[in-house]
Amino acid sequence: MNVKLSTAEQEIRDRFLGEGDLENAVSDLGLIKRLDLHGVELEGTRAVLLTAALKANRTLLSLNLRGAHVEKGVVTTLLGQCGALQCLDVRGWCFSHEEMIPFAAAVKEHPALRTLRIGAEKMDESAWRVLGEAVSEHPRLKSMILAIRCCHVAAILRGGTPLVNLTLELSDPCGEGCRRRVTEAVKSNEALRSLTLPEGFHKEDFPGIRVSDQRVLST
Ligand SMILES: [Zn+2]
Repeated sequence: MNVKLSTAEQEIRDRFLGEGDLENAVSDLGLIKRLDLHGVELEGTRAVLLTAALKANRTLLSLNLRGAHVEKGVVTTLLGQCGALQCLDVRGWCFSHEEMIPFAAAVKEHPALRTLRIGAEKMDESAWRVLGEAVSEHPRLKSMILAIRCCHVAAILRGGTPLVNLTLELSDPCGEGCRRRVTEAVKSNEALRSLTLPEGFHKEDFPGIRVSDQRVLST
């Protein structure tokens, strides 16, 4: 989702950012592959227009709602509607345990999903655990970026996930004991081949996995 937007994609983003002519913009949503609404206010009418325009959408592959202001039920609805969606970014959203239950169910029931970027510093462990169950049962989810407290990593990565690529954006680097628990939780995911971590971890602890330093790849 860091790839440059096409002219049509940028134009739709600009319409959502501004005040003008949103109804025309949403009528074009069936033509684009990526919808980048990071940081956009999507309350009230805007959310209604968006969900109506994406009803039974079969073209959208990537949806970026990072830090968008929108009621959390909306993303659960959108996941259900956009059957082709492969990549979803909801970083910055702090799901409660109750809010995570329907969202995690939507993730699990969305077989096209390949990449999920999620997390907020204040999200609690029980919400991560609910998501972890859905992820471990997902048939094809290959890639995750988790913005997460290091102490919660074991709640979502409990082994047996289909993940091949993983990036951890850890917000509270603890001591060596917590690093060791994170290392064990990560290693229990046997499909994993590529890992991006903050400083402080030991690459030799992850045999067979390509480990990158987050400072280099930071987005
Ligand atoms: Zn910790």
